[in-house]
Amino acid sequence: MSLDMLTIPAQCVENSRIAELDYNNIEFGKIFSDHMLVADYKEGKWENPHIRPYGNMSLSPATSSLHYGQSIFEGMKAYRDANGDILLFRPLDNFHRLNKSAERMCMPALTEDIFMQGLEQLLRLDAAWVPPTAGCALYIRPFMFATDEFIGVRPSSSYRFAIFTCPVGAYYGQPLRVAIEPHYVRSVEGGAGYAKAAGNYGAALYPARQMQERGYHQLIWTDAKEHKYIEESGTMNLMFVLDGKLVTPPVSTTILAGITRDSVLQVARDLGYTVEERKVSVDELEEAHKAGKLQEAFGTGTAATIAQIATIHHNGLDMDLPAIEDRKISNHVAAELDKIKTGQAPDTHHWVHRI
Ligand code: PMP
Repeated sequence: MSLDMLTIPAQCVENSRIAELDYNNIEFGKIFSDHMLVADYKEGKWENPHIRPYGNMSLSPATSSLHYGQSIFEGMKAYRDANGDILLFRPLDNFHRLNKSAERMCMPALTEDIFMQGLEQLLRLDAAWVPPTAGCALYIRPFMFATDEFIGVRPSSSYRFAIFTCPVGAYYGQPLRVAIEPHYVRSVEGGAGYAKAAGNYGAALYPARQMQERGYHQLIWTDAKEHKYIEESGTMNLMFVLDGKLVTPPVSTTILAGITRDSVLQVARDLGYTVEERKVSVDELEEAHKAGKLQEAFGTGTAATIAQIATIHHNGLDMDLPAIEDRKISNHVAAELDKIKTGQAPDTHHWVHRI
């Protein structure tokens, strides 16, 4: 199928639920727009892409993804510009990452036309669900899972791809208290940490809860071999400002290639800051903190764009970081990136996809 030939049939809702939505009080991840896109993979090809009312899917108890974990997902956002037009941020990067996850999980690649045209048509149909309020957005969840009715560990021969969306409010997260994880690991070299595979997230819940019970919002994952090098925090990539330079661990098989991470690095370079992609050890952080050179720390991800870190705990010690308002690089880059996403700054990297 060529990119300009696909028309996706749509069965529309009779009564939209949009009137129930209070834009000023949106609970994250609990309110779903009227429609969803669905496509199925059978006998070696994707077929029957269609849009239908958001609703339950009926599954056999033997659906293989429920047992053996062939299940992957993506997360992205759509924003409104000053004219009310809908802007998607780097959707093709999410498409390519979905297929990277699919390859690692032995699942079929999705076609670009189903992803992009499905997304565009879904957003046109549910345009009213993209909040007009500044700071709000429509969160988009593409996902794929194995659908064979079969009990046995082997790749499924059938899959479902779907996209649904949720309006989300502005992220006003408080600065985070995080703790460096000394025991559990999220990801190992040769493993699937770079994929957005559902099981990676399930396995992270228990260690995260242990940290929460100790009074920290989130943990910092370290390398699986020695717990010596910093990897990610929760579901965000991690960045530091060390002695005036923006430093972040390089993406690898153990670190997810965050689209926000890449955007922050690019914008920081554009703004003239020095950027270093290199390993950061726990020792280096501690020494930098002692010397007063650990100036900023933050996570990057679609949900928050930038989530500031107030405190990093390691080995019985809380390292408190400078006040958020004094964080020159992260505040500057966050503001610039928000402008690009909402059409208020030039889109020099061609990241914005107008619907
Ligand atoms: N790391 C992990 C493990 C994640 O799940 C996410 C969220 N997708 C990120 C980093 C941030 O990625 P992005 O900037 O593309 O949202």
